[in-house]
Amino acid sequence: MQKTIGYAAHTKTSPLAPFSFERREPLPNDVQIKILFCGVCHSDIHQVRNEWGNSTFPMVPGHEIVGKVTQVGSEVTRFKIGDSVGVGCMVGSCGTCPDCQDNLEQYCNNAEFTYNSPDKHSGGTNYGGYSGQIVVNQDFVLHISAKLDLAAAAPLLCAGITTYSPLKHWNVSKGDKVGIVGLGGLGHMAIKFAHAFGAHVVLFTTSPGKTEDAKRIGADDVVISKNPEEMDKHIASFDFILSTVAASHNLDAYTALLKRDGTLCLVGVPDQPHPSPAIGNLIFKRRSIAGSLIGGIKETQEMLDFCAEHAITSDIEMIPIQQINEAYERVLKSDVKYRFVIDLASLTEV
Ligand code: NAP
Ligand code: ZN
Repeated sequence: MQKTIGYAAHTKTSPLAPFSFERREPLPNDVQIKILFCGVCHSDIHQVRNEWGNSTFPMVPGHEIVGKVTQVGSEVTRFKIGDSVGVGCMVGSCGTCPDCQDNLEQYCNNAEFTYNSPDKHSGGTNYGGYSGQIVVNQDFVLHISAKLDLAAAAPLLCAGITTYSPLKHWNVSKGDKVGIVGLGGLGHMAIKFAHAFGAHVVLFTTSPGKTEDAKRIGADDVVISKNPEEMDKHIASFDFILSTVAASHNLDAYTALLKRDGTLCLVGVPDQPHPSPAIGNLIFKRRSIAGSLIGGIKETQEMLDFCAEHAITSDIEMIPIQQINEAYERVLKSDVKYRFVIDLASLTEV
């Protein structure tokens, strides 16, 4: 076992604090990674505060991990020492079920998540990327092109794939009118991808101060969602809307904006349910409400390669790990431009 340092939450109300723990020595199929940067996802906050009711403590969050390979097991063929790599939300799955066979491991009933999930090797719990190093099976490690800035690439491992995957699944392409709800970590990546796919992109925001940034990032239009008159101008006009909102909100305001056969896809996971949708909004124009979870490993690599080709990365605010608790408070106030990334060089001995 190898001593590892990181930051952990010990209860749902305590701030994150320095923590020392052990990781396994690399097995034949494992890659050991020195973590350089880790993005801060709103899911980290939901889980640290036990808002989904499934948290185990101590918890080392972090699933937007990038770093360099420092060791490889004897059967590792796809990676070598020194490679730039990433790890996202998953570190394992059963490998045999229909979801795994379709390269959709995120939907496997036995998917193993990067943290707050049982460690299939030790019988303990997985610890995530707010730490100095991680050991991961090679099948769940991604290559990161030298064309990408490593720190700004970290958020692609969750915010990137979680928005790329539904935009691809619902075939967002040139000529489509697409809405993105919420300009945070996921929302700003969604705008970049929808814009790159050639769609006409409209941001729905509760923060008028983000309008200029949204347009710089790739939105064609910005709607202040609290203003019903602005919303009404877009009735029955969207092919697809992706909501990244991390709180319970009124879905009817958005289903009403879909064209016939349009889809409202939810990726935000609030702690409280959304109010029930108005069925009339759905049946009269055969509209759908759907959900989507991150993306499979194959699609994550495709997304990373697409980003390298199109020079897409996240807009980040870099922080030392000692500022993580303040960063959480700012995310909760929708005050992040547009993803915090932890510089793990700031980690010191516990
Ligand atoms: P974030 O950076 O906090 O962004 C969420 C944005 O939603 C905020 O910036 C804000 O944008 C808007 N918002 C917040 N509260 C709102 C409210 N009460 N009403 C309307 N809009 C509100 O969070 P994130 O990291 O992008 O994550 C977003 C959600 O996705 C979280 O629930 C997270 O757990 C979930 N998630 C899901 C998956 C998945 O696989 N499905 C993966 C990762 C994350 P404006 O200021 O523009 O209004
Ligand atoms: Zn995430």
